[in-house]
Amino acid sequence: MTTSGGAARMVPKPVDDPEVAPAVEAEPWPWPVREKVCHQAFLTGSLMTLLLLACFVLGRESASSAIDLAKLTAMNNGTAGLTTNTPHSRGELLGGLLPAGMDQWACQSRYESWQYYKHFPYAASPYLQGKLRAYEARHRWCAPGTPLYAKSVEQLRSGRSAEGMECTYVVWLPFDGLGNRILSMLSGFLYALLTDRVFLAALPPDSADLFCEPFPGTTWRLPVDHDFPIKDLVPRGQHIDKSYTRLLDAKVVGPDANATAGVPAYVYLSMGWQLKDSLFFCGEHQLVLAKVNWLLLYSDLYFAPSLYEVAEFQDELGRLFPEKESVHHLLSRYLLHPANPVWSLVIKYYRSYLAPATRRIGVQIRMYGHSSIPADDMYNQILNCSSQEHILPETTNDDDKAVTPTAVTGGDGNGSNNSTAIFIASLYSDYYKRLGSRYSTPHVAKGGGATRVSVFQRTHEERQATENLAHNQKALVEIYLLSFSEELVTSGLSTFGYVSSGLAGIRPAILLTAFNHKVPETPCRRAVSMEPCNLTPPRGLKCRDKPANEEDLARHIKVCEDFKDGVKFFD
Ligand code: GDP
Repeated sequence: MTTSGGAARMVPKPVDDPEVAPAVEAEPWPWPVREKVCHQAFLTGSLMTLLLLACFVLGRESASSAIDLAKLTAMNNGTAGLTTNTPHSRGELLGGLLPAGMDQWACQSRYESWQYYKHFPYAASPYLQGKLRAYEARHRWCAPGTPLYAKSVEQLRSGRSAEGMECTYVVWLPFDGLGNRILSMLSGFLYALLTDRVFLAALPPDSADLFCEPFPGTTWRLPVDHDFPIKDLVPRGQHIDKSYTRLLDAKVVGPDANATAGVPAYVYLSMGWQLKDSLFFCGEHQLVLAKVNWLLLYSDLYFAPSLYEVAEFQDELGRLFPEKESVHHLLSRYLLHPANPVWSLVIKYYRSYLAPATRRIGVQIRMYGHSSIPADDMYNQILNCSSQEHILPETTNDDDKAVTPTAVTGGDGNGSNNSTAIFIASLYSDYYKRLGSRYSTPHVAKGGGATRVSVFQRTHEERQATENLAHNQKALVEIYLLSFSEELVTSGLSTFGYVSSGLAGIRPAILLTAFNHKVPETPCRRAVSMEPCNLTPPRGLKCRDKPANEEDLARHIKVCEDFKDGVKFFD
């Protein structure tokens, strides 16, 4: 959700609590012993075969323990009813979703994140795996630094698109906050997969060091130096001179265009929340766009569900993702890998504060100016949601028959450790403080079993500062910490929450938005699909091309749980 005017909150109470934001400094990368041994095996000539065998066996062990963990954790509400798939085995990262053979030191998260996720609801279909491997090969031929890329840039400089170019591109441009950016990246990458284009990212300095290179032996970064033919590449608003619809209206592209002038070398796709180029979602316009060598994507939306409404893409999307709920989940685990500096912050915090608990609950609270309510009301909404969906541990104060809390120093008195870590992600500290004080006294959980509850919040930045790399790194750290939860409560309309749930593989309880500042009667809804909502789908579009299969669309594209004007994938 965009917040160009800045999010407002009702009770600004800045705190300087070291517990809230423990200082985290850089540390040498911690190498798991098993990985180290495996690495050295490749270097040791005479023992090579033997050690490789050992690595294989150990790798299998680690995979099976992860499967057991996943089986257990998939039982909870967030993924009830979903299957659990093999997350990892040596050479088969995330069940073949990720390519093998990349430099594991350059990007540790790619090799380690599976150990922290609690849910593995969907595996990549063999068809998706094949498509990704073919994409990676195409990317290597066409990426910056290759002769084919140089040829494409020369073509771009000429001002016209050429027919039969070996490489054509979708260039992702930054727009809005991190959650929005991630969603438009995933949608743009999916579009590149569907149209045999190469996906390049024009990463600004505020995002330069957030993610690893996703594709083996190549780069996804567009070099935007003084040599690059398009000046002022990133638009300043959604009215873009060279956006598709404007060029169409000016007869520069499309059936009425002057044929002798040729097809322009590049076209902007203005696909932000105002969706200026909604024609993009018509098959006949896809035919026009297919002739343009460079497409510049300016979007803050998760438009993947709307691609499914284009007849030309429907069947292929169905083959790639037999379960529609898996699109974001698989694409995000494929494409996004926090860079080492971010990853070290993630695991340091996780190990220090969240790992010791037996269960982790992530609570993501996003307050928008347009739907703000008093903090007391918001807090009650969170508690009501929690009791409706049975999420946060209930205290003995939660019912009429209040019981005097009993001190609990550890365990549940039966010799087993029963502890819950609640991780709060929010720009503000209000709810951390309230929940912290709610659980500050060791207590007897409702029903008699003792439990220990700890509440954590890593930062409270007070305001969105997307132009700042350190701020974005903190946001990314928190998205990942949320994604390592067993259970999630997220905020309606928030792309930050959507990304966390999809990465986690969890159907969250979504806090409903207080439209017109009115506290919603139903505090939250359990998501029926972990997919993000496309908050601005095309509306009233009259396409001339053949329509998509309506029956299939009705089954798989429905109104979002948190926004009646949005659509998302369901199964
Ligand atoms: P949305 O506005 O909720 O859809 O999410 P976005 O990620 O697109 O934009 C919100 C931005 O505000 C984030 O990217 C962060 O920069 C900041 N932000 C919002 N909530 C949090 C939070 O819980 N933690 C941190 N560190 N930053 C946040």
